[in-house]
Amino acid sequence: TAVLYIVATPIGNLADMVPRAVEVLQSADLVAAEDTRHSQRLFSHFSIDTPLVAYHDHSDDQRTNKILERLAQGQTVALISDAGTPLISDPGYRLVRDAREQGFQVVPIPGPCAFVAALSAAGLPSDRFSFEGFLPAKSQARAKALDALAGETRTMVFYEAPHRVLGTLEAMAESFGGEREAVIARELTKAFETIQLMPLAELVEWVRADSNQQRGEIVLLVRGAAESKAAELDAESERVMKLLLAELP
Ligand code: SAM
Repeated sequence: TAVLYIVATPIGNLADMVPRAVEVLQSADLVAAEDTRHSQRLFSHFSIDTPLVAYHDHSDDQRTNKILERLAQGQTVALISDAGTPLISDPGYRLVRDAREQGFQVVPIPGPCAFVAALSAAGLPSDRFSFEGFLPAKSQARAKALDALAGETRTMVFYEAPHRVLGTLEAMAESFGGEREAVIARELTKAFETIQLMPLAELVEWVRADSNQQRGEIVLLVRGAAESKAAELDAESERVMKLLLAELP
């Protein structure tokens, strides 16, 4: 019967490819990829010659339908992204949703994922966390998003582009306070892997002083607000709300 496999691929170090991922990609009838040229390199490294087609969440319905048609014919399709686990700040949601709705089996092949790797080695509480993905690119929208997270008590995990990392750390110090602990996890599984934990104010200076820290692929993690701090913020918004309500006619 037709199966849609969701296959994780390495986030840098090709030796992290899991054997089952290689098997599934080799034996699938078709592999849907974010960027077929990029994935061609992975394919040659593992001697995979399965046909590749491009897939994005904004793919026209025609392309999604072509993939669903192949499943309807009983074929096996695998979805990969450029790196890591599909659907984690990557395309695939539409396809998985449609495939399930049409009754096809959807099977995950777990493997590398940048935020899981970062969280596992960061040294911040990991029992509860909030994966926030990418913040808005524009600084005003970013500040608003961060302010809304000021009372979050779980560890927060963000993906960030290298040219924005310094600005984002500054904005985080502004919204969360400079004493709040944060971690930059950079180039995970690669030659220049760096994981640094510091209070936000110090981390800003550390990253500013070394332009190498503003290169490559980056996960940022921020310790959640202390419960007492969160309660303080709640009390403060309640106080403001009461004041505002009192002003209403
Ligand atoms: N699906 C991927 C995953 O499972 O992690 C994430 C895709 S998202 C488009 C790309 C972002 O993930 C990068 O901008 C960076 O924030 C993070 N990332 C990917 N590889 C990384 C690595 N080797 N080290 C640190 N962060 C990485």
